[in-house]
Amino acid sequence: MKPWPAPRARIFTADHTVTCDNGDPIMAADVLADLRDTADALTDPTQIRHPRHGWDHNRHKITLPDHVVVLPGLLTQLGDMAYPGGRVDDTSGRAVPKSRPPGNPKALTAYLDIHIAVTRWTVQFGLGWRDTVESQVRQLLGAAPAQDHDDQLELLADMRRWLRQCEELTGLRERDPELTAPCPIEGCGQRTLRINLTGKTARCVSCGARWAEQETEHVGNLGVLARHIAAHRQATGEAAAVAWAADRERKAARYGRKIA
Ligand SMILES: [Zn+2]
Repeated sequence: MKPWPAPRARIFTADHTVTCDNGDPIMAADVLADLRDTADALTDPTQIRHPRHGWDHNRHKITLPDHVVVLPGLLTQLGDMAYPGGRVDDTSGRAVPKSRPPGNPKALTAYLDIHIAVTRWTVQFGLGWRDTVESQVRQLLGAAPAQDHDDQLELLADMRRWLRQCEELTGLRERDPELTAPCPIEGCGQRTLRINLTGKTARCVSCGARWAEQETEHVGNLGVLARHIAAHRQATGEAAAVAWAADRERKAARYGRKIA
């Protein structure tokens, strides 16, 4: 197996502009910096360091060099889950076994979804074709400074979505629990509430409403949302109990006996 390339160095300057070591133009806007961070997270290898300790002959604790595990970039990890036998566009020289085991269907769906979106952006930006999705993502990043602001924002939203998919499927991020309660915002009512347990925030994917922990009894207070969800659970629980009772009655009438 070939070693993974080292992440490219980023240079942050005093006026918060970002440049990189391969001579790309300086990108001033925050959006572009975010784009770079997201593309890096998608394509750069991840290093995991495990500190190690040992004991010398006097039973003193000594620090040994860290055990370092280098994992491929998240997009590559997702591709490996989708195509465990090796991807068609894999040029890393890794061994490809003859028999190809079936991939994880969720990973495959996400991977193809990302592949299609990357292709759409490549066509929209009028770029050429590279041999892997990873290098295609880097090419999009390289072309981003020349695009108008709306396109940059849209690309950033897309890249963040790809990153979230990769993180969820590779187990780096717990999937936001999907709530069954409808969004309480007037005119929305979609069942698309998402809760972030770590950040203690909630949001509705449909209307963009956000909730956070706050001191005051504001509508944006997470506690207000929690009470709404609890009330909804109780109401649906009661409605379900009524429906089950009616179902039991119906079955009892048909079969002539009560079914627990
Ligand atoms: Zn909503």
